[in-house]
Amino acid sequence: LTFLGIESSCDDTAAAVVREDGTILASVVAGQTELHADFGGVVPEIAARAHAEKLDICVEQALAEAGVALTDLDGIAVTAGPGLIGGVLAGVMLAKGLSAGTGLPLVGVNHLAGHALTPRLTDGVEYPYLMLLVSGGHCQFLSVKGPEDFTRLGGTIDDAPGEAFDKVAKLLGLPQPGGPFVEAAASRGNPKRFALPRPLLDRPGCDMSFSGLKTAVLRQRDQLTEAQGGLHEQDRDDICAGFQAAVADVLAEKTRRALAASPAPTLAVAGGVAANQTLRTALQAVAAEAGAAFVAPPLRLCTDNAAMIAWAGIEAYQSGHRDGMDMVARPRWPLDQKSAPMLGAGK
Ligand code: ATP
Ligand code: FE
Repeated sequence: LTFLGIESSCDDTAAAVVREDGTILASVVAGQTELHADFGGVVPEIAARAHAEKLDICVEQALAEAGVALTDLDGIAVTAGPGLIGGVLAGVMLAKGLSAGTGLPLVGVNHLAGHALTPRLTDGVEYPYLMLLVSGGHCQFLSVKGPEDFTRLGGTIDDAPGEAFDKVAKLLGLPQPGGPFVEAAASRGNPKRFALPRPLLDRPGCDMSFSGLKTAVLRQRDQLTEAQGGLHEQDRDDICAGFQAAVADVLAEKTRRALAASPAPTLAVAGGVAANQTLRTALQAVAAEAGAAFVAPPLRLCTDNAAMIAWAGIEAYQSGHRDGMDMVARPRWPLDQKSAPMLGAGK
């Protein structure tokens, strides 16, 4: 089987061609960072417009790079949610058009399932496995038992860690997206100098909280600024190191609990924050402790892309999933809600 994948749920327009043996024939990602740069966040209306403009170009480019024609494909997979509805709609409309024009089967994919199934695409990980999804917008533990069989074990009750990294960077005058800059500063800092909180660590379960951590960083910054008239570079580096250590501690301990609650032979991570080396090392240690293998896909497949959507589409198709012209775009779509999108079922 060879599938075209289409992704447009946030601020990346992407198209990819993937084979059932895991070969990625093409994966095109067109970002929109510049378009939103002046607004301090993704502007939904601008994103939807840019997706509508760029989607068909991305699809054409992916097909050309893969060296296949539409008629060589076996199906079309598209992100049907969750995400910014204007963008999701643009992708779903294009996929429906292509499906209607070619007669190819259509499969609506949950964006989070795309992330969660990536370790199977990259490393052939077997079911079941535990997935920690940590990105700019999400943070959750999933027990993955099949292409459309997920159990959510817990997640953040406020900010996602990526969001916290970005906000901390902003508070300390570092560039956006903040993750890599905070990591670089932290590598020069002393993680023990400032005692930052480990939110929710004292409570049972796998839920997490990161917004208090950001507030603690703000308070620390203001205290230092008041005491000495500003922040020295070393202060900033030490705060970053303390912050990163706190995030790593929380993620490691909650992962330990998730593995205990739902033992699995493999722990996999995905999402942009999984690029962080300190976090990877901490999670790898937790996996080793529990006797589980540790898998972290390459960064370009951890962040938003369409190869993961094509792959999730192939897996769903193989297990019998088909969608029709009545498929809807869903702004919200919890992963443990198994059913495929149905007419009027959008929530
Ligand atoms: P989502 O996919 O959930 O909709 P998103 O597209 O914003 O959200 P990703 O593209 O997966 O998320 O990841 C981007 C996030 O990852 C940003 O918040 C960024 O700061 C963070 N990030 C990237 N590299 C690192 C790093 N080395 N350390 C920590 N965070 C990082
Ligand atoms: Fe994503």
